[in-house]
Amino acid sequence: MRVVVGIDDTDSHGGGCTTYVGYVLAKEIIRRWGPQAFRDFPRLVRLNPNVPFKTRGNAAVALDLDVPGGDVEEVWRLVLDVVGQHARWEGKTYPGVAMAMGDVPERARILYRMALTQLVSVNAADRAGVRTWGGRGRVGAVAAVGAVFPKSTFELLAYRDGERLPIPPRLVKTMEALTFPFTFHNLDRGRVLIEPRGPDPVYYGIRGLTPHHLIYALRLMEMWGFRPSGWVIYRTNQATDAHLELGVFFEEPHPYSFYHTRGIVTEARRIKARHLMGRLDNGVTFIVYRHLGKLASELERCVGCDVVLYGGLKPRRGGLYLYVERAYILGRYVRAKARCPYCGGALESLGRGKGWACRRCGTMLHTAEARWLYDVSIRTALLPRPGERRHLLKPPEVDPALPNFFAPRDVEWIG
Ligand SMILES: [Zn+2]
Repeated sequence: MRVVVGIDDTDSHGGGCTTYVGYVLAKEIIRRWGPQAFRDFPRLVRLNPNVPFKTRGNAAVALDLDVPGGDVEEVWRLVLDVVGQHARWEGKTYPGVAMAMGDVPERARILYRMALTQLVSVNAADRAGVRTWGGRGRVGAVAAVGAVFPKSTFELLAYRDGERLPIPPRLVKTMEALTFPFTFHNLDRGRVLIEPRGPDPVYYGIRGLTPHHLIYALRLMEMWGFRPSGWVIYRTNQATDAHLELGVFFEEPHPYSFYHTRGIVTEARRIKARHLMGRLDNGVTFIVYRHLGKLASELERCVGCDVVLYGGLKPRRGGLYLYVERAYILGRYVRAKARCPYCGGALESLGRGKGWACRRCGTMLHTAEARWLYDVSIRTALLPRPGERRHLLKPPEVDPALPNFFAPRDVEWIG
């Protein structure tokens, strides 16, 4: 019988903890029902990172299983058991579990699309037609059960028991040279991105387009002495723009939701900590964090630009601010000096209120109107620098449109 299980843990360390619970659970399921119990790779489901009680990770995990009909209750008990042992009940976040038996209900599918971009209530999760348990994490758990990935990438997560050895950038560079673009987001200039900074059990996480390249990268890391205590490959919606392609975008701005808007930049200035604050002619106020690099510096120089901004809306000082995560500059309105309507020559002012004279043909004019030109030469797309990109955002070097033919039976995916 088909059973889809979803888990959303505390996620206080960027998702590492949730994937570890998923790993422990996957191991136990294989021990009891064998690897054929897995209909697909375990799924790492990234959701709206703008929700307030989440770190930038916002991750949930789902396992798509095939178990003997009578064992469904055993699966449920096992999940609660593993989550109970490993979950961290801290702060405002707490674990949630969900399970669908047979076909995944349509309402759970819709909940996934909502949870990619919006703040979803626990109530809505409980009404999605799947069994739930736990706290606020029920939302992520149900969304993970309902997740469908028309495009996907993979992430290999390697865990450790003891101390974490720092991974030298030159080794990561070598690994990348041998596998890019089939692995990506390994480095941002000299900074190693595969090693999380938090104290979670993740040793390293390597993102890629195929499970085979991730296994190869793992073998390299092991050869260089970075041997994990265990590892697992997740299929994920990371780097696929799932939030833009599947998520629900409302025309009206809502707090903690993804939003996009088009307007003309009327103001842009640095505020405290050198973050950029600006305004569009449609009334939207936006913020670009300083460390997003070019995204901030280009928009700073862009008053008069016609732009499309994407980001998350957060309440601040009684208003809603758009925290930009990507921008498209479509063009810029530039004021061009008036010319003589007869010969095209330059005009000279005869003094305030006295009109204009053409320098070339001498024609006198009472009024001379400046024209607005639309300059498209600066048309460009702006993304944060690699280390600052959030999980769902598709980097330009990645093409997750690769055929989705990889199946867990074709490749080693857990160790
Ligand atoms: Zn003239």
